[in-house]
Amino acid sequence: MSTANNPLCNYCNSTKVIKHGKTSTGNPRFRCRSCGKTWVLEKNEPDRPALAEIAEEYLNGKTCRDLVSVYHSSPLRINQKSGSS
Ligand SMILES: [Zn+2]
Repeated sequence: MSTANNPLCNYCNSTKVIKHGKTSTGNPRFRCRSCGKTWVLEKNEPDRPALAEIAEEYLNGKTCRDLVSVYHSSPLRINQKSGSS
């Protein structure tokens, strides 16, 4: 049986953690079998840079490819964001 990235308990750091459903936003909820507490594991999404930042770097001569490497976004999406005309 694989233990696929079970987190530690937020409260007692126990590894005896089981999945305990999901929230309405789809974040997994866990329950600790040691202390009995439940908590929600928030999805760790990277902060998205502000559009102004992207546009500024774009104007400063960075190519889409550069921006992709920085922001881990697709060229198409960046074009859509920065091409406002
Ligand atoms: Zn615990």
